[in-house]
Amino acid sequence: MNNLHDSGLPDEPPVPAASSVMKSAALGECPRCGARTMFSGLVNFADTCGKCGLDYASFNVGDGPAAFLTLAIGTVLAVAAIVFDQAFHPPFWVHAIIWVPLTAIMVVYGLRVAKGALMVVEFRRDAREAGSRDVEPARHEADESES
Ligand SMILES: [Zn+2]
Repeated sequence: MNNLHDSGLPDEPPVPAASSVMKSAALGECPRCGARTMFSGLVNFADTCGKCGLDYASFNVGDGPAAFLTLAIGTVLAVAAIVFDQAFHPPFWVHAIIWVPLTAIMVVYGLRVAKGALMVVEFRRDAREAGSRDVEPARHEADESES
């Protein structure tokens, strides 16, 4: 890690460090002002930041991470449950007590972190859904006539 800082590049990194993205996401911090205003519910984004007014709704995070998270968490927990069952042969109710709440917690927390991380990255990269303001027709035509 240290050799990244000795590469002679400017101090301002063009890509945010993954650790700071994950920290902001895990804490639900607004990517612009750092206030913990990102979520209004367990996994629902607030409409805007209550402190700086950043419009969270303009980011198109969606539910993209949900399918991957469900598959990954399901795989991890299924393997863990099988290993646990083979090792200790517990009665069924022990499985219910352990795995049902653990699954719910992991899915909710995983979704928060994944969706939060996507929003932080989208904000830092200034990524939005393309709209009419992203098109410059006059300049576009001029470029085409030159070539
Ligand atoms: Zn803010």
